[in-house]
Amino acid sequence: MNFDLHTHTTYSDGKADVEMMVFCAEALELSAFAITDHLNEGKPTDWIDEMVERVKRARAGRGFPVLCGVEAEIIDESGGTTLTEEVRSKLDIALAHWSGKGLPWTSDKNEIIEHFVECMVNICSNPLVDVIAHPFNIGRAPAEIALDDISTEDYRRIARAFRDGGKYFEVMNNMWWWFPDTKPSLFREQYLRIVRIFASEGVKFSIGSDAHSVGGAGNIAWSQRLLRDAGVGEEQLIDPASFL
Ligand SMILES: [Zn+2]
Ligand SMILES: [Zn+2]
Repeated sequence: MNFDLHTHTTYSDGKADVEMMVFCAEALELSAFAITDHLNEGKPTDWIDEMVERVKRARAGRGFPVLCGVEAEIIDESGGTTLTEEVRSKLDIALAHWSGKGLPWTSDKNEIIEHFVECMVNICSNPLVDVIAHPFNIGRAPAEIALDDISTEDYRRIARAFRDGGKYFEVMNNMWWWFPDTKPSLFREQYLRIVRIFASEGVKFSIGSDAHSVGGAGNIAWSQRLLRDAGVGEEQLIDPASFL
């Protein structure tokens, strides 16, 4: 369980370069590592080729898998992202996160929740995406949806979509960041419940620090504890080597 498949470098908003992040992963004795810079809507993609080359050079002789990837944005309810087939074909792994793009213009909370649930279900049939980054990162969205606003039935429906679409649920180490108004112990309890639901539906998990510096890379202790408490074993984790 000692891997980190979600990090950023100077190719997006990270502070360290590819080489330093991979060096850090080796120093921390991680079993696998991924560089997943932001692929945001309207931003150029001309850095991808160079990033891929640098990751390939940096992983040579490391003794553990180092994947080159991106973190795409979910941009609509139908499961569309910023990722194109051409870009995906150059990468080992693709993450996608919900960033509130395509939110309906309404103040009706139920309508917003419905939209969010559709986004989560439909992203699962997007063949270009492997991992859903920090699922249910809704606490800072203008919609102000709380984790408990989504019904257990909807969580189960989303979980089955993850399973059937082969999408990995990323347990992001600093997930608390999205819920600044919730006491961390309460947030943990709520998130553990969600992870248990997904685990019971047969969903597999990934782990990411979402680090933007060497200080955060490999910072996965909270994720590891949460997955253990949810009863998730090694067999229900992503196999990073299978992406190479
Ligand atoms: Zn993200
Ligand atoms: Zn990220």
